[in-house]
Amino acid sequence: MIRQKVAVKDLIFGSGKVFVQTMTKTDTRNVNATVEQIRQIQKAGADLVRLAVPDNEAAESIYKIVKRVSIPLVADVHFDYRLALKAIDAGISKIRINPGNIGSKNNLLEVVKAASSNNIPIRIGVNEGSIPKDLLGKFQDNPVDALVSSVEREVSLLENVGFNNIVISAKTFSVNLLLKTYELLFEKFPYPLHVGVTEAGPLFQGTVRSSVAIGILLNKGIGDTIRVSLSSSPIDEIRVGKEILKSLELETGPVIISCPTCGRTEVNLRKLTKVVEKRLLNVKKPLKIAIMGCAVNGPSEAKSADLGIACAKQFAFLFKYGKIIKKIDNDNLEKIFLDELESLIFQEDL
Ligand code: SF4
Repeated sequence: MIRQKVAVKDLIFGSGKVFVQTMTKTDTRNVNATVEQIRQIQKAGADLVRLAVPDNEAAESIYKIVKRVSIPLVADVHFDYRLALKAIDAGISKIRINPGNIGSKNNLLEVVKAASSNNIPIRIGVNEGSIPKDLLGKFQDNPVDALVSSVEREVSLLENVGFNNIVISAKTFSVNLLLKTYELLFEKFPYPLHVGVTEAGPLFQGTVRSSVAIGILLNKGIGDTIRVSLSSSPIDEIRVGKEILKSLELETGPVIISCPTCGRTEVNLRKLTKVVEKRLLNVKKPLKIAIMGCAVNGPSEAKSADLGIACAKQFAFLFKYGKIIKKIDNDNLEKIFLDELESLIFQEDL
C-alpha cells in the first residue's frame, strides 16, 4: 500500500518524521491565557497544538489566537459543523471532527468544501468511549473491531464526498487493545495515523502507559503524530512525548546518562542530576551528559559522553569529549560541572 502524505502547514505527516502534539488546557475563549499557554507549549518543543472549540465564542477567539502564535493549530470540534467552518475561516491548520456527529450530509459537505479550498486536513478522531451504539452492539465482545469499524464508517463518509486529506486516530485506554487497533488501521488505511492512549491517567501512570503503547507502535513504524494524554500540564505531555521520540532515536536532543545510585555512591548525585535536568529543559542540542556515582561504570560512561563526571571517594573526574579535563574536589563538584555544561550549551549557539 502506498502511504499517503498529509501537509499541516509545513509539517508533512507520513514523511517518516514523527510530530508531537498536545492540547491547550485553558478556556479557548480566554485569548490571552490560551496564547500564553501555546507559547509555553511551543517552547517545550511541540510541533502542533490542538484547541477545544466548544462554542461560538471559542471559535471567534481563534481569529485572535492565530494572529499571535506561529505554531500550527488544530481545532477540536464536535456536534456543530458551524464551529468547524468558523475555525477554518479563522485560519486553523487542521481540524479534528467525527463526520458522523456533525449532523446531515449537507453539513459535512460544507465542512469538506471549506477544508478542501483551504487545504486543511481533517483528523477523524474515534475514541472507545464514543463508538456508535449499533457498532457496540454488533461487536460486543470485540472492541478492536468496533473501533476499526467506527473508523471505516467515518472514513467512508469523507471518501464518499471525494475528500481524502485525512488523518486517523482510534484511541482507547487499554494498551493491548490500542496496539491491535493501530496494527489493523495501519494495514487497512493509507492515511497518516495519530497515536495516543486516551485518558492515560496522572503524570506517573500516564507516562508509563503512553510510553509503552506509543513506543511499541513507533518501533513498528506505526504512527506519524503522537499525543501523551495526561491529567497534568500540556508541557509535561510534550516533555514525555519528546522523550519517547528520543528513546527510539527518532529525534535528537539532550540525554542524561545517570546512575541509579547505590551503597557505593559518595556524592549527592540525585541532586546534581535534577539540577542538570532542569538546565537542559529547553535545550535542543543533542548533548550526551553522563553523571556517574563511582569508579565501577563511571569512567567508561563519562568517557562516552560529551560531558561526563565520574565521582569517587573524595574526588570526581570530569570528562569532556572522552578526555579527563579536571580532577575536582567533591565539595566543588556541582558548580564546576554546571559551569562546564553552560559552556557546552553556549557552544551550541555559536
Ligand atoms: S555507577 Fe557506581 S554508584 Fe552508580 S549505581 Fe553503579 S555501582 Fe552504584
